[in-house]
Amino acid sequence: MKIGFRKKFEEHRKLLVEMLKREGVIRSKEVEDAMLAVPREVFVPPQLADRAYEDYPLPIGFGQTISAPHMVALMTEELAPRPGDKVLEIGTGSGYQAAVLAHIVSKEPEGHVYTVERIPQLAHRAKRNLIHALGDLSSSVTVYIGDGSEGLPHFSPYDKIIVTAAAPSVPKPLVDQLAPGGRMVIPVGTRWSQVLVTIEKHPDGRIETKYGIACIFVPLIGRHGWSDPT
Ligand code: SAM
Repeated sequence: MKIGFRKKFEEHRKLLVEMLKREGVIRSKEVEDAMLAVPREVFVPPQLADRAYEDYPLPIGFGQTISAPHMVALMTEELAPRPGDKVLEIGTGSGYQAAVLAHIVSKEPEGHVYTVERIPQLAHRAKRNLIHALGDLSSSVTVYIGDGSEGLPHFSPYDKIIVTAAAPSVPKPLVDQLAPGGRMVIPVGTRWSQVLVTIEKHPDGRIETKYGIACIFVPLIGRHGWSDPT
């Protein structure tokens, strides 16, 4: 019975990846392989597992969401992670985006994904999801609890930084923690609508900012984000 379920999910995953390729969202072999390898059904609540391969965000509790697969693919393509990269993710949520990144950076030479979540219960669940989905590869991801708008200075600088919650402006600590030659992708705007912003820090330290597609993310709550609504 369990094998039947696994096969069904695998087929749905392949169909979704094919669709995202046809739409031009998945452009690279790295992102294609990672999205084919990571079982999204592990990262959604069990009662929503049947909807894991619909291209929508889904609720994961505490008013938060796992992003839609096309958004994960699009942000990963834009971030362009490479094997050996040290990546910082802000907004662990379910752990799915971190798993996709880990799949790419952990190839030789081995990189690492540091991911920060402000809601402790989600961080604990994400750790379990990552072990379940990635097995040994889960040692390439470390989940921290805290205010990611301050970054994670201890392990900086990072080759890549991805923020999966919406900020009112680009948090300065994150720019400071980006390595020269590094790249950051972050949704910036109001609480209800944003633009995907790509920041490049050139080797000479010069910052270049590019504005991409419109998007809607839950807010980045913290010192360099929005204040807590509660
Ligand atoms: N990347 C996630 C995934 O793959 O499931 C989805 C992220 S969800 C859209 C945004 C997450 O950012 C939420 O879990 C929320 O609690 C978290 N968040 C919001 N503000 C944060 C902050 N200052 N530091 C860390 N996490 C934060």
